[in-house]
Amino acid sequence: MTNSAQDAPVATIDGVPTLVGARCTTCETHTFPRQDACPRCGAATVTQALPTMGSVWSWTVQRFEPKAPYRGPVGFEPFAVAYVDLGPVRVESTLGGRAVEDWNIDDGVRLVADDIDESGHSWRYHFEKSAS
Ligand SMILES: [Zn+2]
Repeated sequence: MTNSAQDAPVATIDGVPTLVGARCTTCETHTFPRQDACPRCGAATVTQALPTMGSVWSWTVQRFEPKAPYRGPVGFEPFAVAYVDLGPVRVESTLGGRAVEDWNIDDGVRLVADDIDESGHSWRYHFEKSAS
């Protein structure tokens, strides 16, 4: 199986890196990552750009290096991982840009995409505290 850019979780839409999920055509359930069929009712889905701003729904700190196939930075450091509430869906993501112990539930966050390729797609993203 090969991963094409079109399968990447981040696409640049109107110049803004955006998570791409799916929306059920029948019951409006949103999913991320994308799923071809709705996990709630089984109907077909369509591709759906997700909000780029949200809030920390819950979070924890990963304090030990995950086993393979984890491919994080060499020289492991604890990192925060969260469910980010984007409104229609909660997504799992790492948090960045501040010390792990500084996060709070309901903190406002914004999507940050890393390693965006020439087609505007990315496989790596995290959320950072938003300005407001
Ligand atoms: Zn559905």
